[in-house]
Amino acid sequence: MSETGQRIRIHTGDITRLDVDAIVNAANSSLLGGGGVDGAIHRAAGPELLAECRMLNGCETGDAKMTKGYRLPARYVIHTVGPVWQGGSKGEAELLASCYRRSLEVATAKNCRTVAFPAISTGVYRYPKDLATQIAVDAASAFIGQNALPETVTFCCFDRQTAELYRQAIAVLAERD
Ligand code: ADP
Repeated sequence: MSETGQRIRIHTGDITRLDVDAIVNAANSSLLGGGGVDGAIHRAAGPELLAECRMLNGCETGDAKMTKGYRLPARYVIHTVGPVWQGGSKGEAELLASCYRRSLEVATAKNCRTVAFPAISTGVYRYPKDLATQIAVDAASAFIGQNALPETVTFCCFDRQTAELYRQAIAVLAERD
């Protein structure tokens, strides 16, 4: 496998359990908490996380902002806002790629060596999982190819079906490089 491929990992399970430098939260633009992975992260981190989020004044779609991880094993949480799927002609692909890129930029600025992502926008925001997976893998591998940090990017999949999609996308990447 290519060097880039070796720096990409897949984990099946709950992102709040991961002992990495930073986990990424698929937040909404208020940054004041929600359902899905956002709710799980806030529950696991404790109320201090919401208190810090209140001071951030929200976040634009495609952008990312960092907080501490509080009671999480992860030192930091990077909150990014994915696009709501509206059929694909509203710039969703570019916005989703931007979520991954901006999150990795923010992580690198804090010297994070290990970063884990959920499948941003593929829950309540309804982004088709196969398309979202391809964008996630492409964006992460492009960033890794140009930067020494993070050393590894983990895609944290909540179920085996999602993990299989990532496995396929990473295999395509390995063949291409
Ligand atoms: P969005 O609003 O960006 O679509 P969701 O939280 O609704 O965000 O879903 C994003 C993805 O996160 C979904 O694929 C969902 O299965 C997954 N997910 C939900 N909870 C967790 C968790 N605790 N750890 C990892 N992934 C999770």
